[in-house]
Amino acid sequence: MKEHANIPIFLPHKGCPNDCVFCNQKVITAKLKPLSKDEVIQIIETYLSTLLVNNTKTIEIAFFGGSFTGIPIEEQKEYLKIAKDYMDRGLVHRIRLSTRPDYINGQILEHLKLFNVSTIELGVQSFDDDVLRLTNRGHNSQCIYQSSELIKQYGFDLGIQLMIGLPGDTRKKSVESAKKTAEIGPKNVRIYPTMVLSGTKLEEMYHKGGYTPLNIEDAIETTKQMYLIFKRAGINVIRVGLKSTDHIGKGKDVVAGDYHPAFRQLVEGDLIKDILEDQLKGSFQKAVFYGHISSLSNMIGNGKRNKIYFEKKYPDQSFEFKIDNQLVKDEFRVELV
Ligand code: SF4
Repeated sequence: MKEHANIPIFLPHKGCPNDCVFCNQKVITAKLKPLSKDEVIQIIETYLSTLLVNNTKTIEIAFFGGSFTGIPIEEQKEYLKIAKDYMDRGLVHRIRLSTRPDYINGQILEHLKLFNVSTIELGVQSFDDDVLRLTNRGHNSQCIYQSSELIKQYGFDLGIQLMIGLPGDTRKKSVESAKKTAEIGPKNVRIYPTMVLSGTKLEEMYHKGGYTPLNIEDAIETTKQMYLIFKRAGINVIRVGLKSTDHIGKGKDVVAGDYHPAFRQLVEGDLIKDILEDQLKGSFQKAVFYGHISSLSNMIGNGKRNKIYFEKKYPDQSFEFKIDNQLVKDEFRVELV
């Protein structure tokens, strides 16, 4: 039985008056027709036909793809009514939506309460005011604190989305944003490395030499440090890196930036590599790394990345990766011979 599943409803943000430099929603919106009521129902029914057969414990309708609370109120109502109807019939258990920090106020939250919305995700991206300004977000960090607080006060679960490698960003600033996020204490977070998408202001900046995206190693290291902050704070990291879609992927809309479809695995593998390497003390001929079966692929690393790392760094020693199911997930043991 699956524990949790989302029914994603993609609503490209046709009414968005903003122009964040990294965002290609306008390009996508120009290509897509807005979803009609019937199309939304059709998406939900298609997902439910599988999820209900599989006895999925928690099913959540997730409106994403723009700033939900910026859509005209009548349209919001139409979408929310459909979702609430599925909830009232016990077929769906939660409703999630994402929006901007400056599209939150008491009146908006009262309205979302009427439709039993459970989670509000804020596209925060950064807590650094210079990064917010250079990215043309149109709000400052003060606004993020205020809306986060309000969302929690009204009893919604709060989600926070952060981006790394935006114009003006540095590793220090990204890590600082993670610390500030942890202080706010959302239920979950998402971390996205910035990609240069076609049709965006960032693409123009990139071609003019005014912006350089992070390389993959820098992106992994920064994300790793942020991930650790969230893990220690007990905050669920529900996504790391952009999902591969019809638009996102190598040779698609990504103009620059080291897009990797398994970015999360790269980060988690690197975290495990650090744990294992910490235990390589004194002289040894061979190191045998043990982990639970569920950790084995991350232990070896995506594309055998960790194996290659150890073999390169310690050319006179050999390394083996083995399963020990006495260990729990994320617990490791190293035998040095
Ligand atoms: S990121 Fe969100 S707020 Fe910014 S332009 Fe895109 S849809 Fe609008």
